[in-house]
Amino acid sequence: MTESLTRFELPQSAIPTRWYNIQADLPRPLPVVLHPGTKSPVTPDDLLPLFPPEIINQEVSRERFIDIPEEVREIYKLWRPTPLMRARRLEKAIGTTAKIYYKYEGVSPSGSHKLNTAIPQAYYNKQAGVVGLTTETGAGQWGTALSQACNFFNLECHVFMVKVSFHQKPYRRAIIQSFGANVTASPSDKTEAGRAILAQDPDSTGSLGIAISEAVEMAAKSGGKYKYALGSVLNHVLMHQSIIGQEAMLQLDRAGDSPDIIVGCVGGGSNFAGIAVPYLRDKIVHGRNVRVVAVEPAACPTLTRGVYAYDYGDTAGMAPMVKMHTLGAKFIPPPVHAGGLRYHGVGSVVSELLDQKLIEAYSVPQLEVFKSAVTFLRAEGIVPAPEAGHAVAQVIREAIRAKEEGTSPVILFNLCGHGHFDMTAYDAYFRGELTDYAYPQAAIEAALAELPEVNI
Ligand SMILES: *Cc1c(COP(=O)(O)O)cnc(C)c1O
Repeated sequence: MTESLTRFELPQSAIPTRWYNIQADLPRPLPVVLHPGTKSPVTPDDLLPLFPPEIINQEVSRERFIDIPEEVREIYKLWRPTPLMRARRLEKAIGTTAKIYYKYEGVSPSGSHKLNTAIPQAYYNKQAGVVGLTTETGAGQWGTALSQACNFFNLECHVFMVKVSFHQKPYRRAIIQSFGANVTASPSDKTEAGRAILAQDPDSTGSLGIAISEAVEMAAKSGGKYKYALGSVLNHVLMHQSIIGQEAMLQLDRAGDSPDIIVGCVGGGSNFAGIAVPYLRDKIVHGRNVRVVAVEPAACPTLTRGVYAYDYGDTAGMAPMVKMHTLGAKFIPPPVHAGGLRYHGVGSVVSELLDQKLIEAYSVPQLEVFKSAVTFLRAEGIVPAPEAGHAVAQVIREAIRAKEEGTSPVILFNLCGHGHFDMTAYDAYFRGELTDYAYPQAAIEAALAELPEVNI
């Protein structure tokens, strides 16, 4: 009798040596990115105030594989390879005939997948002679990861933290500060973008779009001292996350399985793309039969109810314009929404994959998200980040359907982070303070009526 295994490890020598760039294999090239002022295609020179040359190269590169620098791979060894787990106890708890596996990125020092891209971004900026990085953070995972990466490479780190999170998550702010970063509640009076918002609404609790405007402005006006780093959405960020899927493929091979369904939650799309792109390559190039499923909150339904159009990346219209599924750059998620994944848009790669019907997208309401996350944590012993709870909810839906239909698919999902700093959200759920909220159609239509016009 073979022993039933739950944990599939890889040796450190199996940490990938190159990132996989799906731009090489997309059926058609990604739409060009536009300058927010001229609305003409951006040139590398337009982007130089914000990003170092190697990051700009990676953003537009159509090379299939890009080598991971040895210094970056050395730091990856602090937590990679991450484990692949067979969720046997969850399978039993929901009585499914499906096999469920998860890749656990919460073992990273920052508690989520975000460090996979923070490290190379800090590295390339250091190489380019930059003094420090500016960025935004919402729930705080990205601010944590970037402050750790800047600390490793001796860079200053300036984080604009969405004001509501700054006040609701003091411990998250304290971690970011522990690594030496400077944290500002956004909107702030440090930037023109922040002052303009405060003049209109002194009580603004902020949004990711506003915080991005502030961080971009600080870098752009620094005369080259600072550059800007983004933790999601952009092509190079999604590419850095491809190590998740590369490792998962090796681990599932060891487990003797191959996924029929791959599930990831989507904010800007990086953890989803990270686990999915190596499999999507096989689907595009070799016709591999696999369903790839993106999951988002019903309160921020970018992929399922937004439109595929050019929009600004930030609220003030300073960041480049990208063709993406969007709810409009002025979108502010409802205050009752506790689950993260609040960005108004989504990465160009994920938008194009959906438009090409290479992936599917679903939204889930937040009570189902927390109910599913609690089922998971009681079975498996790990508290999922609320974002990851969206993936868990969809996995449970798929697993219950499998039981009803008498099938036994292999389901792989990305447990992209733990929720140890999100216990106020769980607390609110247990106290019955959370409600479901589907974004009203009229509000979506009003925001979409304000989309910028372009001649592309
Ligand atoms: C940032 C974050 C997300 C959302 O970003 P993606 O780029 O869509 O992955 C999801 N889960 C966790 C744990 C995060 O930190």
